[in-house]
Amino acid sequence: MFSEKTRPKRRPTAIGVRLTLWGMGMTLAVCVLLCVVLYVGMYYSLLREVDAFLQDEVQELAAKVREHAGDHRAAERAIRDELGHRTREDLSFRLFDPQDNVLISSDAEDTLWTHLRGALDGARRQQGPYFETVRFPGVSSPSRTCSVPLDRPNQPPLVAQTTYSLHRMKHSLALLRKISAGGLALVAVFALAGGWILTRRSLRPIDTMTRKARRITASRLSDRLPRSGTGDELDRLAETLNDMLDRIQDHVRRIRQFTADASHEFRSPLAALRGMAEVALTKPRSADELRQVIEVSIEQYDRLQRLAEDLLLLAQADANRAGLRRELLRLDSLVRDTAEFYAPVADEAGLTFTVEAPQNIEIHGDAGRLRQMLGNLIDNAIKYSQAPATIDVTLACLDGAATITVRDTGPGIAPNDLPRVFDRFYRSDKARTSPGTGLGLAIAQWIAHAHGGTIEITGDLGKGTTAKVHLPIPPAQAS
Ligand code: ATP
Ligand code: MG
Repeated sequence: MFSEKTRPKRRPTAIGVRLTLWGMGMTLAVCVLLCVVLYVGMYYSLLREVDAFLQDEVQELAAKVREHAGDHRAAERAIRDELGHRTREDLSFRLFDPQDNVLISSDAEDTLWTHLRGALDGARRQQGPYFETVRFPGVSSPSRTCSVPLDRPNQPPLVAQTTYSLHRMKHSLALLRKISAGGLALVAVFALAGGWILTRRSLRPIDTMTRKARRITASRLSDRLPRSGTGDELDRLAETLNDMLDRIQDHVRRIRQFTADASHEFRSPLAALRGMAEVALTKPRSADELRQVIEVSIEQYDRLQRLAEDLLLLAQADANRAGLRRELLRLDSLVRDTAEFYAPVADEAGLTFTVEAPQNIEIHGDAGRLRQMLGNLIDNAIKYSQAPATIDVTLACLDGAATITVRDTGPGIAPNDLPRVFDRFYRSDKARTSPGTGLGLAIAQWIAHAHGGTIEITGDLGKGTTAKVHLPIPPAQAS
């Protein structure tokens, strides 16, 4: 979490700006491409139209030449009459002899013909209409020319040629360019504004989530991020974060409960110790009386020490620092030894105690921790059962796992207590009359899990309790 000082400067628009620019860039790129395709298409379509027109014209004018067969002056007049005011403006006609000299020209002051000679060779080579775009010096627009050879019997062909200025086409294309540029500018503005509005709108839930998440602190862990309910990515993100907050809240609740329970467990023996010491000091005491006080104190010290050790073990387990010292060990011997250790206590309580571990079973495990786990289970069985109950401890190998069972015919556990017996500090109401802190099964569960095994407690109220631990055994043995 950031303090006010270290919190990075808020940049709520960074993604918005990037998304908007990307969106605008893509839209513009597509539009530019479309404009280029349109422009090129338009250019060639206009040029084709001009070519078709030129070809029609040159055929028509060639017909006039043929009509006035041999009389070039008459043909020239007819052509000038035909073209009228268009001569010199955009359309002109020429007839060339085989030596590239002008025989007929639609324009009396034709000065451009010298630049058109190049097209004549093309027409003669092609023996058909030959098109070329030419640029005349001092004229801003290019011109298109169409040259057609006119065959004559027993003589080399003449070449008829029409030339058309492309300044109209140039204008049309310039207009198209201007319209495209204006259109692109408009598209850019709309893409920018639209993209910005859209991204702001889509990113607004993130802003809201960020504001809400900032307000969630350890003391306000029950707050949740708002959900739009649309099921989109942001809604799923909020749901995932809320689930995470649920887990964190549950974890924090358990830590707080654990701390409160632990303090409570420490307070009772400490208060008892202090009370005894105060009472002992109220008047002079004999050596026997003081001895008694010290003996009772030692019991409380033991209780405190055990509690501190259990808490330390669970804290280390939570932090993954309670390492196991694993070694190959004989589980059957371990079960027998541990059971034997508790046999006198069971005997003293008038309970029938049996142990059965016939099979030789080896596992990799921490002998000390496994003894502690089994001890906790046997301790419970002895502690909560009353004579003439029986306690059976058995070890068997089943389905590739070693199963330790501690079964007693004691009072059993109420069905609503069963799911909570592994909770730290949990003790049933009935159990509170017996000494204990409610950590025994939590520790046993951790040891079983740390060995890759499982633990379960079953039983019927009034009929007894069965604790079962399954521990994996090395494959060589299991087969
Ligand atoms: P600790 O083991 O720390 O001295 P504890 O025995 O009360 O205290 P756990 O061993 O964790 O704590 O057991 C939790 C609770 O489960 C007990 O308080 C008891 O109510 C119930 N319980 C466990 N084993 C038995 C059993 N064999 N018979 C009846 N109740 C049991
Ligand atoms: Mg116990």
